[in-house]
Amino acid sequence: MLFEVKDVDRQFYQERLADFLPAKIVDFHTHIWLKEFHVTAPVKTRGPTWPRRVAADNSIEDLMETYRLMLPGHEVTPMVFGWPERDTDLERTNAYTSRVAQAQGYPSLLVTTPEWTAQELEQRALAGGFLGLKPYLNQAPTHIPSAEITIYDFLPHAHLEVADAHGWIVLLHIPRPARLRDPLNLASLREIEKRYPHLHLVNAHIGRAYCPEDIGDALEVLADTERMSFDFSANVSATVIEQALRTFGPRRLVFGSDLPIVRMRMRRICENGAYVNLVPPGLYGDVRDDSHMREVTPEEGDKLSFFLYEELFAFRCAAEAAGLSAADVEDVFCNNATRLWAHARP
Ligand SMILES: [Zn+2]
Repeated sequence: MLFEVKDVDRQFYQERLADFLPAKIVDFHTHIWLKEFHVTAPVKTRGPTWPRRVAADNSIEDLMETYRLMLPGHEVTPMVFGWPERDTDLERTNAYTSRVAQAQGYPSLLVTTPEWTAQELEQRALAGGFLGLKPYLNQAPTHIPSAEITIYDFLPHAHLEVADAHGWIVLLHIPRPARLRDPLNLASLREIEKRYPHLHLVNAHIGRAYCPEDIGDALEVLADTERMSFDFSANVSATVIEQALRTFGPRRLVFGSDLPIVRMRMRRICENGAYVNLVPPGLYGDVRDDSHMREVTPEEGDKLSFFLYEELFAFRCAAEAAGLSAADVEDVFCNNATRLWAHARP
């Protein structure tokens, strides 16, 4: 079995999720790749190291099995893309994504590097049948210190111009330690919306605002934007999701999981504005060097369920607090994504 589903998981699902989730679900944020694409990275990973403790790879078969185990009875369509870290061969992870997506009819995104010219990017995206781009901050030039990376360091204007010309989706994981409230990030997001009116910018993880403190004045600054969307993948803050819903409305949020990472067994707390994943002891190796990870007692560990369930339940709480209708919930879980895909088709 890919992973164990325990009574605590079945109970969580039945009591908190089963009667809430629509029958048809689109998962806007999934990574698929194989172990054999691993290469020796030229630089150490920037950002958290805990995600790679959850799964060494995620084949399309594993992804579909995950849905069967975690969301029984639901018809889930994933948007797929590769593993964007530098320890994975970019060409091979993209080629696998393209092959799987075309064979099975799933939409997909191209993981990019800023080293490509506009022409190289366009040729790769068109040849692979991708609906847009998945840039990632670790692909920024290695001489730039992690905390100083800007959006344009890994998503250059030349790439944005191509995406705009084709009306593609750009699924963006924003950089910088201050996350969504970072003034430079906010200025860039506003600039992208203004300068590139035909592409579809989707901010992953609600701009990495995992704790309410990460919001700052971001929602006021972005309140008058009209087009950019947000996925709430790997975000378990009902407060953050509710505020995003109230600011942007249910048509501009999309469900994404960030599988396989959300297979993790955990619960998240915020301490002084920083998130900590509480995990069962021993399950994810030695986590003492990671400030975002903390082991609980075996008894507490037995009560922990999946990250994905925590995310979905946080969304449910937010949706109920913000007064979403069943139709709004269906928009977030399905219709908003299919609208974005329809626009992105060449
Ligand atoms: Zn992701």
